[in-house]
Amino acid sequence: MNNMFNSVKNDILEKIKTSDKIYIMSHIDPDGDSIGSILGLGLSLNRILNKDINIAVNDDIPSNFEFLPIKHIGKINSNDKIDLLITLDCADIGRLGFEEDFLNNIKYIINIDHHVTNTNFGDINIVNHNASSTCEVVYELLEEMNIGLTVDIATCLYVGISTDTGSFKYGNTSSRTHLIASNLLEKGIDIGKINTELYQKRSVGRTKLLMESLNNLELLNNDKVAIVSLTSDMFDRCNSSKKDADSIVDFIRDISTVEVACVLKEVDYEKIKISLRSKEYVDVSKIATEFEGGGHSKASGCTIFSNIEEAKEKILKKILEAI
Ligand code: 5GP
Ligand code: MN
Repeated sequence: MNNMFNSVKNDILEKIKTSDKIYIMSHIDPDGDSIGSILGLGLSLNRILNKDINIAVNDDIPSNFEFLPIKHIGKINSNDKIDLLITLDCADIGRLGFEEDFLNNIKYIINIDHHVTNTNFGDINIVNHNASSTCEVVYELLEEMNIGLTVDIATCLYVGISTDTGSFKYGNTSSRTHLIASNLLEKGIDIGKINTELYQKRSVGRTKLLMESLNNLELLNNDKVAIVSLTSDMFDRCNSSKKDADSIVDFIRDISTVEVACVLKEVDYEKIKISLRSKEYVDVSKIATEFEGGGHSKASGCTIFSNIEEAKEKILKKILEAI
């Protein structure tokens, strides 16, 4: 991996130096890794280069990341002409959440990611499927560039690594991941505070939604498949937002018998966002790509444009074929 950086690091720095309007962005439905990586790379480059690099996401930032320096994350003006776009944690360009016209006007793209389904849409692609997280890839890149980390930047990178590895529980956690986490701790990050902010601040609305989900949980195929449908009415009843559904799929995956967990979320009329998780042997990224989504073998997602009952039927059919 580091050899790969060796050859591209100068290209990246040269491209940044010679471009005017530069944006660092990640996917809609932002998570710890997307927010951690854009802040980690963006703040680092802004610190050492005499450039004004914009950091942006085309979506709202979930409240549990408010302890990070998110004031540096802006929105993007869709009339802006971008000279250089650096995408992080973004498996395909559609995940940025922009219209095609806008994307076609971007002059140069550097794509930095770790998803197996990455489509290599960039002019430069740094995609490491073996990295636990995009934050891990960014750490390696900053190290290769000899850019030192501040406590704030180290905190952002740690957040991405911690959230994408399920707190160092998933198989994507390598010895290198632990070594990097250790180096981040050396920078003086406050691990107690990070974990409290990330994992011990579930709102009442989120908790009610979890209860409602568990009341509606269906277990199929000898309890190997767990599935929950969340309708707009349920979100309203629990006074919760769509973002509050984020960790429900992980919760139901953790039932002992479950191999595949699926949550369907009615985000709009005939627009159903689907989250998939597996535990040991099913590759859910293959299921997600059948619906033009993507992700990782054990965590992926897609959108189905139909009513929630039809969406459930379609995704269940594919899950039962795969299991
Ligand atoms: P989540 O279920 O937490 O939204 O997403 C799980 C994983 O799948 C994440 O790595 C996320 O980036 C990826 N993912 C979720 N939805 C989509 C999608 O619509 N397209 C692609 N390419 N990846 C997705
Ligand atoms: Mn990620």
